[in-house]
Amino acid sequence: MSPKSKEKETMDNLLKRIREEIIPKFEEAVSNSGAVFKNPHIVKCWETLECKSTDCTLYGDESKAVRCWQVTGTYCGGEPQGNFIQKCGKCSNCKVFKQSCPTVVEEIGEHLNNMLFLLNRQGQTMQEDNQRIEHLDRELVTALEQLDFKNREIQKIMISDKLTGLFNRHYLTTVLEDEIARCHRYGHPLAVMMIDIDKFKSFNDNYGYTAGDKMLSYIGGLIRENIRKFDRAFRYGGEEFLVVLPETDLTLAYIVAERIRKGLESKAFVVSKKGSGGEKTAFRTLSIGIAATYPYKTSNISIEDLISQADLALSQAKSKGGNICNRYE
Ligand code: GH3
Ligand code: MG
Ligand code: MG
Repeated sequence: MSPKSKEKETMDNLLKRIREEIIPKFEEAVSNSGAVFKNPHIVKCWETLECKSTDCTLYGDESKAVRCWQVTGTYCGGEPQGNFIQKCGKCSNCKVFKQSCPTVVEEIGEHLNNMLFLLNRQGQTMQEDNQRIEHLDRELVTALEQLDFKNREIQKIMISDKLTGLFNRHYLTTVLEDEIARCHRYGHPLAVMMIDIDKFKSFNDNYGYTAGDKMLSYIGGLIRENIRKFDRAFRYGGEEFLVVLPETDLTLAYIVAERIRKGLESKAFVVSKKGSGGEKTAFRTLSIGIAATYPYKTSNISIEDLISQADLALSQAKSKGGNICNRYE
């Protein structure tokens, strides 16, 4: 056979191998990330390079006849070689790569393998990144929910009185402004009641401040139990309370006030007289002043005036001896 026809036969043979061994791998790679060109010529790098780098993870392991150019952290000639990207150019000129690729078929096959290796690695990194993002997302949502919960708790604390469980005076202005505006706009009735404990100072003086606090806390509960959902009760001062009753006229407010007054009148507090140690029961009463926009012609009444009216009614109740619900009429 002439050299020319031998060359043609070799070329035909290579093209046939490319068609049969390489092109199907490209097709396979589209749907299968594990596609790989099987190269039976891969040589052992430490043998080819007569390498003695015992620090290298690949050194001397018979099972590790692998593509050393894809392995991160190899030690060629005692030098660490970095990762695939860092050493790629150097490796494709290395004896190991060249001996592993005796023909152009193996060379193309190995370049295909390198491309697939990179694509897979990028895919893995993207998947890990996505998982990290999803995790961060979940953490962020939890943190926001906790923040929202804490915010609501803080808002609640800001408008509450700890001892009585009622709203504090700070919040009263907001509520009254809203209610009086509604009252003016729709002409609906609105009532307020001012509640004060009778002779509370002497209770404190006789039985101590802690016993006094227990009574304040009890009254907080008593008021809450006797008003409706949309009524709101506030600790107005030390031993004074104010209740805002929307959609309530003077008559209805009086009924509510009487329920509260009677609730304390019959309540026995177990106390011990300061210094004596012995226990006994003590009672206290409430005086309540009530004012309402209805049935009186008070369509444009201010908050201040409505409260003053309730306060005046309370003073009158006190001057009548206390333990009375008194309407401003
Ligand atoms: P009146 O019948 O005229 O209302 O007399 P009073 O003794 O109830 O009223 P006065 O205004 O003379 O006294 C109110 C008392 O309330 C004095 C104060 O020590 C007490 N007080 C105010 N805030 C608190 C509190 O948070 N805890 C306790 N235990 N006592 C309080
Ligand atoms: Mg008072
Ligand atoms: Mg009092």
